Amino acid sequence: MINIQLSERQERIIDIVKASQPITSEEIGKKLNLTRATIRPDLAILTMSGILDARPKVGYFYSGREAFSFFLEQIKTLTVSDIKSVPVVVDEQTTMYNAIVTLFLEDVGSIYVASEGILTGVLSRKDFLKNAIGGMDLNKIPVGVIMTRMPNIITISPKESVLDAATKIMEHQIDSLPVVEEVNINGKDGYKILGRISKTNIIRVFVDLCNNC
Ligand code: ADP
Repeated sequence: MINIQLSERQERIIDIVKASQPITSEEIGKKLNLTRATIRPDLAILTMSGILDARPKVGYFYSGREAFSFFLEQIKTLTVSDIKSVPVVVDEQTTMYNAIVTLFLEDVGSIYVASEGILTGVLSRKDFLKNAIGGMDLNKIPVGVIMTRMPNIITISPKESVLDAATKIMEHQIDSLPVVEEVNINGKDGYKILGRISKTNIIRVFVDLCNNC
C-alpha cells in the first residue's frame, strides 16, 4: 500500500476526484481556482503512486473504488473448486477415539464420513464433546453412531461460487461444507467427496483479495 506524504493540495484533489469522478484536470483546476499546468505535477504524483487512475479522454478516477469493484468481482466469480481444501474422511466403523486423534493430527474442525466412496456423515468438534461428556466409551463407540447423517448434510458443488458457499455456511450455522459431485456407485446414488470448504478457506480469500487490492 502507498505510504507517501501528501500535500494539502493533493489531499483536496483526491476529495474532488472522489466526489466528482470521472473528472478532467481542467475541471479539477477550476474547482481549485488553479490552472491545469499548476496542478499537473500533483496529478502526476497521485497517478504514479496509484491513488488516482487516469483514463485518456475520460478523466481521473479514485482507484480505491476500482479496488473495491475488483474485490466484488472476484468474490462473485471465484468458485468453490478454486479454493477448496483436501477433506479428511474416515469410515463409519472408526472409533470416536481414533477420529478425535485424526482431528488433532490433521488440524481440522470437522471430519467427513464415507461408505464405499459415498458421503454418509459429518462430524464436528461439538459432536465429539457432546458425546464425550455424556460418558460414552470413546474406544468402543464408532463414529457412525454420533455423526450427522445424510440426507441432513448440507453440501456444495465445485462449480458454485464462494459467495454461495459463504451463504450456506451462514444460513445453516455450520463451519464447513463437503464439496461433492453426484455419482452412481454399484447402482446406488450418492455424493462422492471431492473436497472441503470451511470458514477458514473463505477468510483466506478475503485476506488475499484485500492484500491484492
Ligand atoms: P462445531 O461443532 O465446532 O460448532 P459446526 O457448527 O460445523 O461445528 O457443527 C454443528 C453441528 O452441525 C454438528 O452437529 C455437525 O455434525 C453439524 N454439521 C456440521 N457441518 C454440517 C454440514 N455441512 N451439514 C449438516 N450438518 C453439519
